[in-house]
Amino acid sequence: MSDGGRIALVTGASRGIGRAAAIALGKAGYHVLCLARTVGGLEETDDVIQAAGGSATLVPLDLKDVSALDRLGASIFERWSRLDAFFGNAGVLGALSPLGHIEPKLFDELMAVNVTANWRLIRSLDPLLRRSEAGRVLFATSTVGHEPRSFWGGYAASKAALEMLAYTYAAECSESRVRVNLINPGGTATAMRRRAFPGEDQNELPKPDDIAPLVVQMLSPEWTQSGTLVDFRKWQAAGKD
Ligand code: NDP
Repeated sequence: MSDGGRIALVTGASRGIGRAAAIALGKAGYHVLCLARTVGGLEETDDVIQAAGGSATLVPLDLKDVSALDRLGASIFERWSRLDAFFGNAGVLGALSPLGHIEPKLFDELMAVNVTANWRLIRSLDPLLRRSEAGRVLFATSTVGHEPRSFWGGYAASKAALEMLAYTYAAECSESRVRVNLINPGGTATAMRRRAFPGEDQNELPKPDDIAPLVVQMLSPEWTQSGTLVDFRKWQAAGKD
């Protein structure tokens, strides 16, 4: 990998939307740092990137290990001195149940993975992103992050918090070359969606590969907007793909 190429970190790159995004970024010439817990899934992502002539570094870690997130920033600095793109995609759904019935451990995990890990990554990666010619940050949110829905309260609250982290970070970066945005994929055929809607025919849904081109676009130097939330379905309906 030439040090002149762009470097991206994708969380949740072992499957679903993160995997498709990592592969699309690899094909677009990025060196991709692929983060998740499942080594087998990361290796499958790496195989596809390499087969397409791209390159990746696997980062097998648990986002709840916040010390590891601090060390990750230091490791990226030592190797590349900067980071050009960060896709904070990894997320968990938790339990779909009334607020009063959510297991405290599951609520804590929702906040740890969907919110705290992304804040810790902002904290760890901010100096690296500011060193890039065109640092780009994108977080994956959900419709329920801004539209309340019964039984989705834990996940929804975590995504609402993530959205505010992203908007605040975008404002704080306004005088820099860093741009920070949100993507709402909408219902997409993945394992998470299957957990939320077990009886659904996923053939009717967009696939992760359909979302990936928008992710690549929003992480590119040409994407100059900041502090925006792009809804994939609306973007697609507007014929922007
Ligand atoms: P999946 O469940 O298919 O994938 C989730 C990814 O996150 C996996 O790669 C998983 O890797 C990773 N992950 C989860 N927990 C951790 C952890 N503790 N440490 C490290 N990695 C972790 O989800 P999707 O692809 O469907 O979702 C991607 C994003 O899009 C999420 O933020 C989701 O909320 C959002 N979204 C999805 C929609 C959909 O319909 N699919 C709709 C709206 C938003 P591993 O288990 O290997 O660690």
